[in-house]
Amino acid sequence: MAREEATKSNGGAGLVIRNIGLLLSGDLQKPVLDADTVVVKDGRINAIGKEKELDCEGTAGIIDANGTALAPGLIDSHVHPVAGDWTPRQNQLGWIDSCLHGGVTTMISAGEVHMPGRPKDIVGVRALAITAQRTFAALRPSGVKVLAGAPVIEQGMVEEDFRSLAEGGVKLLGEVGLGSVKDGPTARQMVGWARKHGMQSTIHTGGPSLPGSSLIDKDVVLAADADVIGHINGGHTALPDVQIRALCEESERALEIVHNGNERAALFTLRTAKELKKLHRVILGTDAPAGSGVQPLGILRVIAALSSLGEIPAETVFCFATGNTARMRNLESGMIEVGRPADFVFMDAAQHSAGKTLLESMRLGDLPGIGMTIIDGVVRTERSRNTPPATRVPKVVK
Ligand SMILES: [Zn+2]
Repeated sequence: MAREEATKSNGGAGLVIRNIGLLLSGDLQKPVLDADTVVVKDGRINAIGKEKELDCEGTAGIIDANGTALAPGLIDSHVHPVAGDWTPRQNQLGWIDSCLHGGVTTMISAGEVHMPGRPKDIVGVRALAITAQRTFAALRPSGVKVLAGAPVIEQGMVEEDFRSLAEGGVKLLGEVGLGSVKDGPTARQMVGWARKHGMQSTIHTGGPSLPGSSLIDKDVVLAADADVIGHINGGHTALPDVQIRALCEESERALEIVHNGNERAALFTLRTAKELKKLHRVILGTDAPAGSGVQPLGILRVIAALSSLGEIPAETVFCFATGNTARMRNLESGMIEVGRPADFVFMDAAQHSAGKTLLESMRLGDLPGIGMTIIDGVVRTERSRNTPPATRVPKVVK
């Protein structure tokens, strides 16, 4: 409650973030911006540039970035939330707050499938989706934007169900394949109805995640044509390389790589996407909470792995978890650009990393240290309790 009040009182008066050592844009075309200062007004980015060229008069708040890197808050494209900051999957409290300490400021539900006793009848499916949308819209754990209300499609649903879900405020479909619809033609018809009514879709890719779920192979994925090829590197069991390659070649949808997947298949996807000049379609998720647990540093771990083992500059890989996801999923957050929400993560090389800079340390496979997170212009966390300690951290001057 106190934090929500702070949002309102700070918002209008503005905030200057100065002395930024490295400004990561989230934009694959230009991952690093030539600027050291960001001005925030009403929770949004108002100006970006060199401090001496910007008008910073009269702003109420000042943050000295102390030479650290500022990036858009990370977006986790694939989570399974249920109720507030509790997950029944590993019976854990505070997992979303822990992910905020890993730099994640926005999460997208791939289905509230861990709800105990999850309804499978169509009225129940609709009710659960609308409940999840409403509850996460009304309560943001630690300020994190959790976009939830993602129904898992079941046999027997008709276009009217999708129309009424959309009318009820539902904007996402959960992973196709986790319910009773597992064949291409039915999935394609329902994904089409969802799209017609403004709902974005994702599909489970690979072997079953749990007893009772099933294999979804590349033929079903291509036939369904969902907006996101969910965990293309498996969740955890990956498809054969030849099928992953076919998905990269034949689909123009988002290629989602997750932490809770097969690491070798993640690297194969990355190299294939690079070869096909499709890196702009690569987005990142955790698929947490899962059987492998909650992964508060999951997005950072995937960035470090893809950059070091996949031999791609870290500033490029950061775009996969920010601007790429924003573009593929029509989000406002995820870019450092005037008018966008002021959702930021401040990072520096971890203490005693062999890399001298943040980017060099990540190319060597190290995790960064997080010094602060900001959502909608409000400081949400200072030095992370989860990352290795950052060498330098930003300071709130006033
Ligand atoms: Zn899945």
